[in-house]
Amino acid sequence: MGYGYEFKCEQCNYKREYLLGHGGNIKIHEFETENMTKTELEINEIMKNEKVISYDSDVKLCVCKNCQRIYKKTIIELIYDKEGQIISKKSNFKCYKCKCTEYNDYKEEELSASLCFTCPKCGEKSYKEDGIIFWD
Ligand SMILES: [Zn+2]
Ligand SMILES: [Zn+2]
Repeated sequence: MGYGYEFKCEQCNYKREYLLGHGGNIKIHEFETENMTKTELEINEIMKNEKVISYDSDVKLCVCKNCQRIYKKTIIELIYDKEGQIISKKSNFKCYKCKCTEYNDYKEEELSASLCFTCPKCGEKSYKEDGIIFWD
């Protein structure tokens, strides 16, 4: 059972569904390697070679702080032991459009219906949540 959001652009009618699942179940090998960021590739290597203490992953909608584009992204947090040193790592975010590395989590309950994001297609600020989807 998962849930997701449907977004629609009021300007160009572009529609997209963002399906989010349960956190914690996603294994790193389920990523497509070509879409991995440098940090994700690093995490992948750590998973194979180091003593991992804890691993957590969650699929989130990340909103670019600079241009308000929305991305579906798996955020991984990893803690591992490297020769007695405890190191923590978290996957990073980078907006493909403006290269901003800061994001806000998209939280449905904090948003008013009037909030608009940047449309991935036409670039207008008329991209809105158009419904919530539940799936098995
Ligand atoms: Zn951006
Ligand atoms: Zn649009």
